[in-house]
Amino acid sequence: MTVSYLTTLDLDAFTEAARAIPYQKVRSNLFPGVEVWIRRDDLLDPLISGNKAYKLIFNLIKARELGVETLITCGGAWSNHLHATAAAGARFGFRTIGIVRGERPPVLSAMLQDAERLGMKFIFVSRELYRQRSQSDFLNRVGVGSAIGAYFPEGGANLAGVRGVHLLGEVIEGTVPINFDQLWVACGTGLTLGGLNSSISSFPVHGVEVLKAGGSVRRAAWHWFAALSQYNTSGLKKKNAGEVDLTDEFHCGGYGKYPIRLQEFHRAFEMQAGIPLDPIYTAKLLYAISQKANEGHFSCGTRILALHSGGLQGRRGFQLGR
Ligand SMILES: *Cc1c(COP(=O)(O)O)cnc(C)c1O
Repeated sequence: MTVSYLTTLDLDAFTEAARAIPYQKVRSNLFPGVEVWIRRDDLLDPLISGNKAYKLIFNLIKARELGVETLITCGGAWSNHLHATAAAGARFGFRTIGIVRGERPPVLSAMLQDAERLGMKFIFVSRELYRQRSQSDFLNRVGVGSAIGAYFPEGGANLAGVRGVHLLGEVIEGTVPINFDQLWVACGTGLTLGGLNSSISSFPVHGVEVLKAGGSVRRAAWHWFAALSQYNTSGLKKKNAGEVDLTDEFHCGGYGKYPIRLQEFHRAFEMQAGIPLDPIYTAKLLYAISQKANEGHFSCGTRILALHSGGLQGRRGFQLGR
């Protein structure tokens, strides 16, 4: 499977790259009785990868149209969004500023080291200040108020972000190689689930929470679905529009938790299927499908599509492959 690079900041080129993403049938005994395929959005671009690329594309195009020179965004030390924004800035000629939660550590995480090499300037802020990141004077308070920049919220969670995910859903509808019964996707905030729900009508979309979300993923998925439908009604074709189908049994103790049973599954999956997963999102996604298959949750022969939402750079935060 070859990785290509997004070389121009252009919606047609991006959509073409998205349409070329391969669907791969999983060969493995970890999913008894069901047929599992993976859409490899990790291959969209080695640095601007997975769902973060879709959340960025309309934000980037708008920033270019407005003549913005600097992209400002925020996240934690292992944020895939910060990483993707830094890479997009380097690729398409924007300066980037990352507002990072917490004190600057003596040694930066591998992810922040990458982002720094890609030219991102960091501002480390206290957790208390970070909590105010959606308030209007936040940028002034962290000292970047005078920079002429576009501010993308954490995780790319804005209307332009969810429009990109809506586009992903349209691409999936138009490119699936077989008739799937279900699409499964890993959920952090739930924006991706909400966006896919708004444009996929051929099969239900099922989310797997990777953290103890309380009701936040469900609320966000609904919120973004509703926000998008005001903006664009073309996706509201299906019955039960906006209904959120979620599993909260596989967060394995919380965000970033990687217990032995998940590690063992992850290793077995990669050995058998030959497809790399990240420990935070996609390993839990496939683990959930495997557990459900073993519990006899699916009727025999169910065809499941899992979305590979990227995040492979996050593997370096964990001990893998031993
Ligand atoms: C951010 C991320 C997600 C979660 O997306 P949400 O829209 O926040 O639910 C899933 N997978 C990967 C690899 C991610 O980086």
